[in-house]
Amino acid sequence: MRVTFLGVGEAFGSRANTSLLVNGELLLECGPHTLLQLRRLGVELSRVRLVYISHLHGDHFLGIPALLLAAREDGREEPLTMVGPPELRQVAEELLQLSYRRSLEELPYEVEFVEAGESLRLLGYELSFAPTRHSLPALAVSVRRRRKLTYACDGAPTEELVELALHSDLLVAEAYGGGASTHSSPLQAAQLASRAKVKRLALVHLWRGLAREEVERAREVFEDILLPEDLETVEL
Ligand SMILES: [Zn+2]
Ligand SMILES: [Zn+2]
Repeated sequence: MRVTFLGVGEAFGSRANTSLLVNGELLLECGPHTLLQLRRLGVELSRVRLVYISHLHGDHFLGIPALLLAAREDGREEPLTMVGPPELRQVAEELLQLSYRRSLEELPYEVEFVEAGESLRLLGYELSFAPTRHSLPALAVSVRRRRKLTYACDGAPTEELVELALHSDLLVAEAYGGGASTHSSPLQAAQLASRAKVKRLALVHLWRGLAREEVERAREVFEDILLPEDLETVEL
């Protein structure tokens, strides 16, 4: 499994919005910076077959219209599956209208919307979900195909998340911190990684003011912590 960190940043910082590309075909989150990062990597948009949106904060979904219309410009014909909150179809439709006066029906390819919640088997991947504690309903997702990746963003860890992340080859967890009870911190992410017995932990959704010492303290709880940069790739 190949995991590319398109962005590792928060909503208002100097890093790209947190977004991951798995095996070049599964996109986790689509914020305002996501299309630019895909373009920088030279990703063929028609190869992206599934998009997952964890929750409806702008840094996680406001890039949808640009992604859909750029794929249209590139001549996409392949269907696209979007997985996320129940309102996702309506939100995507409204965003397309608001930003470019377009509708989903006008796209030359089919977009199917699937609600996240129960486990799903899509395109050869098994997707399972667990709630985090955030200011909006948000779901962490685990993606399994031979290897297991768990992506938890945004929100503080929950017991369900420990269960979901169990024995992951890689846990990608948000570490925005800043004392907010509705976000995770480097230390909370490390405690989660340790309890879930994962192999590696990568911290994302990094706050612009994140202190190195905070990460060092977290490493005392869980050693193998990766601080990926925008556009960095790891192999599982
Ligand atoms: Zn959020
Ligand atoms: Zn966010």
